[in-house]
Amino acid sequence: MPWCAECDRFYNPNSLQADGTCPTCGRAVGEPEKLRKFSDEPAPWHFKVLLVAVVVYLGYRLYEVVLWGLQSL
Ligand SMILES: [Zn+2]
Repeated sequence: MPWCAECDRFYNPNSLQADGTCPTCGRAVGEPEKLRKFSDEPAPWHFKVLLVAVVVYLGYRLYEVVLWGLQSL
């Protein structure tokens, strides 16, 4: 729960300004709305790129391990 030390009180996240600042003194006490809503948004494209890169890398390592296994037979 966002706490404003300036006003000495707790705030409901919904009662804060959209940018996460205190409605009374303007001090930053909570997360900006953008961050709060981040989990509801679809994964950003760079996250998908990273995911694909990891899958390709792991697939390549698996391929290497299989090749190594075949060679040692
Ligand atoms: Zn305040």
